[in-house]
Amino acid sequence: MHSNMVGKNIQNLIPYAPGKPVEEVERELGIRNSIKLASNENPLGPSPLAMEAVAAHLGKAHLYPDGGAFYLRNKIASTLGVTPDRVMAGNGSNDVIEILAHTLLMPGDHGLMSYGAFAIYKIICQGMDREFTEVPMVENQWKTDVDALLGAIHSRTKMIFLPNPNNPTGTYLNKDEMDRLIRGVPKETIVVLDEAYTEYVTAGDYADGMTYIDDHPNVVVCRTFSKAYGLAGLRCGYAVGSPQLINFCNRIRQPFNVSALAQVAAVAALDDREFISKSHNLNKNELKAMHESLTSMGLEVIPSQANFLMVRMGEPCQSVFDWLLRHGIIVRPLNKSYGMDDCIRITIGTSAENKALIEAMGKYLDERAKGA
Ligand SMILES: *Cc1c(COP(=O)(O)O)cnc(C)c1O
Repeated sequence: MHSNMVGKNIQNLIPYAPGKPVEEVERELGIRNSIKLASNENPLGPSPLAMEAVAAHLGKAHLYPDGGAFYLRNKIASTLGVTPDRVMAGNGSNDVIEILAHTLLMPGDHGLMSYGAFAIYKIICQGMDREFTEVPMVENQWKTDVDALLGAIHSRTKMIFLPNPNNPTGTYLNKDEMDRLIRGVPKETIVVLDEAYTEYVTAGDYADGMTYIDDHPNVVVCRTFSKAYGLAGLRCGYAVGSPQLINFCNRIRQPFNVSALAQVAAVAALDDREFISKSHNLNKNELKAMHESLTSMGLEVIPSQANFLMVRMGEPCQSVFDWLLRHGIIVRPLNKSYGMDDCIRITIGTSAENKALIEAMGKYLDERAKGA
């Protein structure tokens, strides 16, 4: 085929750069037991209650899933104290975000996000050939700039993509900032509040998106089972918004977008409060320790409310990435998908994994200092 058989928007799309499978990296480098701190997965594994539920359901894998995700939507609704007609489930929250974009972004409409926000929003807009703007973050803080977003809204701005906390920076908007943003957005502009890391947040002034949806039908909150619930491989996420918006989204959603196993796992995981609090507490302690250790090595570490840290290396990030990889530790370089050439993102692992990372980073920095 000729490349001009697809649109310029797709020809020019920089693909999301997924890491290689761990097994493949190990085979190539001749190493074993490598530590993956690259994808913000839960180091404790999946929710145990979810694993039990999946095992019990495997014998029904020949049946199509419930296309209405009845039990899952009811469970999410009762957990959050909303009506089920406000809830849509998806094949991960990325699916939910894409369904929202396909529902809302008409030809000529405009999407808005921060430069340095989660990369999927841009891929979705560009893939649909919709105009979008990326406004800079607050300088040196790597944080969403409320005024820059408000200032970039125009008459065709239909969607604002707002991750809180943001990936890959880990920064968040507090309640005052979020109030100001939501107050300033026209009613005809939908704010997609992507709260993939909400279970990890410790800041007392965090703005829980659910507190906005009653008074602001243009706010839709997206959450996921991929992070704190430990179910990234099963793919399940959801949106909570106005019944009318959810109803429209349901018209274009693929009827079986959430697998049967993902549905039963997610229902069970929502009851696994013990696992969630264990995950939250582990992350809280380890995040703090990791931040302090990396800072004491002289690295610039961005304060995070999520289960990862963004670190500035003061040099092109490929060097530390390659070095750590050869030593069995996989982190995420942010040069390709994010254009942050000197930054890596490190997922918070178990205590032992984090110790290994800190030790390796120390060695790397020593070698770098000697080489210089
Ligand atoms: C990980 C992540 C998601 C979740 O993606 P899933 O499709 O649910 O696995 C969504 N938004 C952000 C900002 C993320 O980092």
